[in-house]
Amino acid sequence: MSILVVGSVAYDTVETPFGRAERVLGGSASFFAVAASFFTPVNLVGVVGRDFGAQQLAAFDGRPIDLAGLERRDGETFHWQGRYAWDLNSRETLRTDLNVFETFDPRLPEAYRGSSHVFLGNIDPLLQRRVLDQVERPRLVACDTMNFWISGKPAELRETLRHVDVLLVNDAEARELSGEWNVVKAARAIRAMGPSTLVIKKGEHGVLMFSNEGSFAAPAYPLEDVFDPTGAGDTFGGGFLGYLASRERFDDETLRRAVIMGSTLASFCVEAFSLDRLLRLTRPEIDERFRLFRRLTHFEPLS
Ligand code: AMP
Repeated sequence: MSILVVGSVAYDTVETPFGRAERVLGGSASFFAVAASFFTPVNLVGVVGRDFGAQQLAAFDGRPIDLAGLERRDGETFHWQGRYAWDLNSRETLRTDLNVFETFDPRLPEAYRGSSHVFLGNIDPLLQRRVLDQVERPRLVACDTMNFWISGKPAELRETLRHVDVLLVNDAEARELSGEWNVVKAARAIRAMGPSTLVIKKGEHGVLMFSNEGSFAAPAYPLEDVFDPTGAGDTFGGGFLGYLASRERFDDETLRRAVIMGSTLASFCVEAFSLDRLLRLTRPEIDERFRLFRRLTHFEPLS
């Protein structure tokens, strides 16, 4: 089993009520790959500019993350800048500099074409589809997107969604994509667009999953210190799909565990800026928090 991820590998500038981080490693593919690599080998497809340094690349060292598909091009690396409100739940995008992404034409290394699982990270839906077209017979295709593309490239996104099994979005994005205010109605409308499973991420309020088996809800792990939510969504995706790929099954029980694994990984991501916490994370820490998650949500039936 291996996961192919396409997404941004970025420099992020982030302001939170607790501080500011200038041009630190970010991007949807970076967070996803590191999280998923705890469970399954990852093939990364993306592009960086000449300004992307060895120090940033070192984040992927010593992990089962293949970088043969990470192109280096003349120009500057994708840069995103955002600011979080005091409650850390809402954020404002201050800048999106696509830079080398603007002319990116992904070509998959031969060895990536047989990847069993695909994660189409948050990038232009047209690029997502170009990548998907080059994968031979994926067993599961998951996709993330955001308001930038929902309003910017609605027709292209709809076409991509026809080929997707699992869509991961936040509640505002689900509403915008479906035109429905109610999330249950939004889920029905989005599942009719292609994805049989929809995962709605609600930040500190947890996650809702809608699938053929019905719905499943998970809280976010209650943390005393939340520092920077950037990348939590992609880290969730990495834990979710990484775990699913490692199990080779998609039944309801496995999907539910995958949601908790995604939430577990995301709960570590928000504890520090950039990928700092994920890069220090160990498998025993993951297993222990997964166990605490189970206790957090367990209750006995009425007798
Ligand atoms: P998340 O907090 O999980 O939604 O993802 C944050 C990451 O998404 C940041 O590290 C950004 O570099 C990246 N990002 C933000 N906007 C875009 C965009 N329009 N295209 C691709 N990646 C983006």
